[in-house]
Amino acid sequence: MVESEIRRNPFTNELIIYSPARQKRPNRKEEYCPLCSGSKEVPEFKKPLRITNKYPSLDNRKDFKKVKTGTFFEKSNPYGFCELVVYTKKHDAMFIDLNEEEILAIFIEWRDATMDFAKDSNIKYILPFENYGEDVGATLIHPHGQIYGFPFIPPIIEKEFNTAVQYKNERKQCMVCDYIIAEKEEKERIIYEDDHIISIVPYFAKYAYDVYVYPKRHYGLLHHSTQREMESFSTLLPKVIQSVNSIFNKKVSYSLSLNQSPLNTPGSAAFHMYFKIHTPQRNKESLKLLGAVETSGGTFINGTLPEQAAKSLRNNLE
Ligand SMILES: [Zn+2]
Ligand SMILES: [Zn+2]
Repeated sequence: MVESEIRRNPFTNELIIYSPARQKRPNRKEEYCPLCSGSKEVPEFKKPLRITNKYPSLDNRKDFKKVKTGTFFEKSNPYGFCELVVYTKKHDAMFIDLNEEEILAIFIEWRDATMDFAKDSNIKYILPFENYGEDVGATLIHPHGQIYGFPFIPPIIEKEFNTAVQYKNERKQCMVCDYIIAEKEEKERIIYEDDHIISIVPYFAKYAYDVYVYPKRHYGLLHHSTQREMESFSTLLPKVIQSVNSIFNKKVSYSLSLNQSPLNTPGSAAFHMYFKIHTPQRNKESLKLLGAVETSGGTFINGTLPEQAAKSLRNNLE
């Protein structure tokens, strides 16, 4: 079998994961569900359960090794972690159908996985997420999330992190803490706020209904959350997804991710964690597909102003 590997683009410094085994993933829509109770992977479901991904993009079974042959060709083995978190025993349920207690139990697994993966000094970034629906590439129906532990900091996070470190060095403040104050003054992009968290369609949203949910207190990793903060996230996040569904009058495909501080990296205390909800749905009929302006230029064209999106989401939040 062709081995997976991570290669570096020497022109942009980006890393690309090549994972031939993933091509063999079955399309399981009508087939046997490996996440239902009684399966080999999930003999019995008692609470949200972490299991190793059978088709991992990253894998910690071999030591992390980089190889460089010439100026342009650098690669490493795909070192890292890939786990699934089975949310519930109900095959046809969705994240948004679960109650606050069940969602809190999922976030506790995300939190514990972050603490476990962080013990490995090769791991630079941990990304817990859920992809729901075909339009974001989900292949299993049974409600589940995933957790990736990367041996590098992914580029979007790296850019944000470098900016946050620079801002902190210059102003002695957290950039996100300051941004939250600025958004509170403007008000119109805020969807929801309580004593612990705040939810915003950011001024710079790339897609029509991108939503960020920040803890109001400064910290970079989920295991620094208090019980109250965890409860607030658990209550709000499904409501935001439900609100997007109400706007489009259907169950949209979405990604929910937890963007945390890099690990084993100097300056990581400058990062302020947040949850992000993303859907490619841009209106009732169609998705935002990426064309040359986005794929070659890296510049997004968004047909919906964040202020309009925030107003619709606020109006549909139950
Ligand atoms: Zn199932
Ligand atoms: Zn902060």
